[in-house]
Amino acid sequence: MSKKHNFSAGPCILPQEVFEKSAQAILDFNGIGLSILEISHRSKDFVPVMEEARAIVKRLLKLGDDYEVVYLGGGASLQFLMVPFNLMKAENGKAAYLDTGTWAANAIKEAKHLGQVDVVASSKDENYSYIPKNYTVGEGYDYFHCTSNNTIYGTQMKTFPDVPTSLVCDMSSDIFSRVLDFSKFDLIYAGAQKNMGPAGVTMVCVKKDILGKTGRNIPSYLDYSLHIKKESMFNTPPVFPVYATLLTLQHLENNGGIAAAEIRNEAKAKLLYGEIDRNPMFETFCKEEDRSLMNVSFKLTDESKKEEFDNAWKAAGINGLNGHRSLGGYRASLYNALPIESVQVLVEVMNSIK
Ligand code: PMP
Repeated sequence: MSKKHNFSAGPCILPQEVFEKSAQAILDFNGIGLSILEISHRSKDFVPVMEEARAIVKRLLKLGDDYEVVYLGGGASLQFLMVPFNLMKAENGKAAYLDTGTWAANAIKEAKHLGQVDVVASSKDENYSYIPKNYTVGEGYDYFHCTSNNTIYGTQMKTFPDVPTSLVCDMSSDIFSRVLDFSKFDLIYAGAQKNMGPAGVTMVCVKKDILGKTGRNIPSYLDYSLHIKKESMFNTPPVFPVYATLLTLQHLENNGGIAAAEIRNEAKAKLLYGEIDRNPMFETFCKEEDRSLMNVSFKLTDESKKEEFDNAWKAAGINGLNGHRSLGGYRASLYNALPIESVQVLVEVMNSIK
């Protein structure tokens, strides 16, 4: 069976080299005569994996020793709760949130368990088809939370506001895809299952000096400081996802890092949006200026062509093009590992629909 053109939104395509090295590690990890699945997370063979997986994030994001990286279970969804647990004051806690989509709204819902949440701006009124711009975050907030890329709606924040408090960002679906000044953020989190690696692990990168200031009693697993102290070994970490994440990030580092990935991602997005704009059979859901380079959500202008289009892309070996169940239409996810050749195949199929 030849490799499909995989536009899946996550879990998603990873570099072929990562699949091959991961498969080898399951059979015999680093030639030690054991599978990575059967060794202790505290063994001399695995501990360096965790150490390097933490260090490489800081190298790629160009962050210094004032930041710590931890790998946790529970998905990005657990971070919706851990962020307020660790950053919202126990007394009169108050946080500001930007509501740009389903995941942002889920983060808001969890934070409300712990204190006051002010939604400073929302694009819900227009089905999350744009990124709100003219809002301000006033004084007195424990932190401001935003979502850099809205995986379902295909919108992406191009700039980030200057705020008089900690800037916290859910970068699950566009981390490592474009150059940003990451030192602007006090806390970044990302479920691994897009640009980082397989599902099952979440990366949190936090500036140490924002922790320990809430006066809140934090349950052990939810406490970032404890995970930092235990070097992501407070409990048994998801060893295999961490290893595959390390391989993915090493692949990125060896191929020019984030800057080179950004150039490749821009070329892929330009090719696909170019076809959508040129071809009267297709249109996007969102405002042009807010289009995501990672998730291109689009639809047919003539629904009667659905069967023809669906049959055509499936016949071309394309996988994972259906839109999210809440939005319908189509979604082509152009994550780091997706080759431009796959986008070319999709564009040819779109071009054939008349
Ligand atoms: N945030 C964003 C931006 C996402 O795209 C997703 C999942 N696709 C989540 C959060 C939730 O992640 P998880 O399934 O790891 O909890």
